Amino acid sequence: MPEAVMMQLAAPDASHVLGRGRRVDAATARLASRIDPSFLAEAGWDPGARVLWLPPEHPLLGWRACPAPGCGNPVYGEARECGSCRRGDVSEPATGHGRRPGERRGRARLVPVAAGELCQVRACERERGNRRYCRAHYERVLKLRRADPSFDEKAWQAAEEAIRLPVGGPGQVSLHGVAARAVAEMLYGLQQRTRTGAATNLGRLRQIASELRGTRASCLADLDADGRTQHKLTRCFLRHAARAFLDPETETRKDVWDLAVFGQPGRLTFTTISQRWLREAAKRWAADDLPRRRGKVAAAPVRHYLTSLAALSESLHGARPDHGEHPARLGRADIEGFLHRLTFLASQGRLSADARTRTCREIRHLLRQFRALGLTRPGGAAGGLPDDFAVRDSDIPLKPDDPEAGRDLPPEIMRQLCGHLPALEEVSCREIRVAAELIIDTGRRPDEICALPWDCLEYDEPGHLPVLVYCNHKAARQGRRLPVAHATAGLIVAQKTRVRERFPGTPLGQLKLLPAAYANPHGRRAITESHFGARHRAWIETLPPLLRGDGTEFDKTRVIPYAYRHTYAQRHADAGVPVDVLAALMDHQRLDTTRGYYSVGEPRRREAVDKVTALQFDRHGNRIWRDAKALLDSEHARRAIGEVAVPFGTCCEPSNVQAGGNACPYRFRCAGCDHFRTDISYLPDLHAYLDDLLRNRERVLAAAGIDQWARAEAVPSQEEISRIRRLITRIENGLDDLTAAERENIGQAVAIVRRHRTVTLGMPRLRRALPDIRPERPA
Ligand code: SF4
Repeated sequence: MPEAVMMQLAAPDASHVLGRGRRVDAATARLASRIDPSFLAEAGWDPGARVLWLPPEHPLLGWRACPAPGCGNPVYGEARECGSCRRGDVSEPATGHGRRPGERRGRARLVPVAAGELCQVRACERERGNRRYCRAHYERVLKLRRADPSFDEKAWQAAEEAIRLPVGGPGQVSLHGVAARAVAEMLYGLQQRTRTGAATNLGRLRQIASELRGTRASCLADLDADGRTQHKLTRCFLRHAARAFLDPETETRKDVWDLAVFGQPGRLTFTTISQRWLREAAKRWAADDLPRRRGKVAAAPVRHYLTSLAALSESLHGARPDHGEHPARLGRADIEGFLHRLTFLASQGRLSADARTRTCREIRHLLRQFRALGLTRPGGAAGGLPDDFAVRDSDIPLKPDDPEAGRDLPPEIMRQLCGHLPALEEVSCREIRVAAELIIDTGRRPDEICALPWDCLEYDEPGHLPVLVYCNHKAARQGRRLPVAHATAGLIVAQKTRVRERFPGTPLGQLKLLPAAYANPHGRRAITESHFGARHRAWIETLPPLLRGDGTEFDKTRVIPYAYRHTYAQRHADAGVPVDVLAALMDHQRLDTTRGYYSVGEPRRREAVDKVTALQFDRHGNRIWRDAKALLDSEHARRAIGEVAVPFGTCCEPSNVQAGGNACPYRFRCAGCDHFRTDISYLPDLHAYLDDLLRNRERVLAAAGIDQWARAEAVPSQEEISRIRRLITRIENGLDDLTAAERENIGQAVAIVRRHRTVTLGMPRLRRALPDIRPERPA
């Protein structure tokens, strides 16, 4: 059987879209088969006449009918009546509305005029006034004349007359005379848009149909996209049509990937990598890496890697006579050339020091991954790439110190921002303001707040304490619970009420707390992080200068949504929340991550350590380091690596230190051990330990059913209790020698040192109140 006949047989049925008996190519039929008949019925599609009869009451495709008696034309925008009624024009033909051409609408303010001649396009029933054509055809012919001086008006008239429904009555969009492929693309695009909740304007659909007819385009891609408004809709339809048959296999062979195939927004471009082998290797790596990335912008790090690869590609292209097209000829010299180029760019200020380090790291990673994926084997994309074409660890320049301080916003700046929050609602909407308040209050990431479901507030029993339930998209952890203040809970409750009133018919499980303003008829789509960021930036720009405590101006570019998360962490760290608790609040799995969020700052920490070390004691309660003003650098290092924490001090016994504190040779009898040190910062722990000893002693002495020898071993010794008591007394007496100001200083230093201590062992915490950045709100 001939192939063409087989294709014809294999082509899916497109009759529900293009009518019975129409012969169409296989690609058009395949696209048409993706259009759901129920959607076509919903949109009022008549395949025989090729007309959409859009129902006015449809939430996304509907239109507003002119309220003038007997009119019924669509009304666009905020206008109260259609354009014809506003101008007092002769009535439109309005098929089926019971008026004849020339007939006036029965409205007192319209001036009756004599019935005019009809448009010279014979199929058109519109009145032409003092022109040759009706307004629609007149404008069309003007446009065609301007575009083509040799325009054949007679032929055009004949073509228009062949179109039985050239303009269409109210709510109609005629696709008569539009190529079958373009019809399928329009209807498929309309279906996909509508399914995502986007509204479509009837007038825009008519414009596209008119252009398709006027230009005799065979498909939407033939329309010249000159950036005019209606072409946004054309591009949208084209995008949907292109995605109709997306498949990872075919997509990953292209040089520009539509990431919809990976469930991600945007594209991934490989065209910046000029060497074919490098581009193919990058594609293989990206196809392997992308599915394992998480989050809504999972492709962002991959794009960054590709940028680094583009820099390597540019270096090879410029430095080698063969432009780096042959992987087997590359070697260490090419890598060195690349590294030198980066150094040069950094020295010229064209590349930041941070970007230089990151580029080197990413190229090291990518070249390793190419090898791990087997791409350097014979026949692979990078087949024959020598082993010395690699970035060594020693090639990576030192990463510049990340300035810890400065990402959070000072309390006085936060107070000013919170005072201007009503203005945020004025320049955007209520949802954006609520999002900003929630990010400030809870320190969640902007995307976590934007995506909150409607039902995101729960209450812990007992105490009826409010808890925000959210998803940590970045770490793919669902249902995280964060205790929030009652004021924050009140904000959420008010927003829930507002959203429910706005979308009463949507099931609660599908509602969002912060629904998007557009293309969201059911409240199922939340505002996006990028939209929030743009509105937030616009608000910041409108604010008067933000002033620091000393009256100088604060840099507004530092006020970004993510800064509120750092501010939240800093606020709690300043209040003495221990780092392990803060890590739980921030939903971090590693304490190091949490430490990066707030800035005690190394200088402040060292200063604090110096202060408490000056009040250090041995096991007998004798002061040591009495004369120490500041520790030498080496002493700080020694403290970091030569000691391990024990319940109420530190241990410097070498074998125990080497074992990370798990190998005490003396069964943790620290109060009697020369390797033990304690200082003023452990005073609360010493008190707690003493209380424990006393409690345990009473419990063991009162216990029945225990042998005498076991009781003697279990009961805390009087000697240990006395030692701990003496240690506490000595430390407290040491404090008595200090002035009030010195005691205050020591208190602050102790708070800082304890904040950075990860071994808590249930000891009492030192806490200060959180700085109040919203004084106007109740606690
Ligand atoms: S008893 Fe001595 S060696 Fe053991 S942990 Fe305590 S200080 Fe270190």
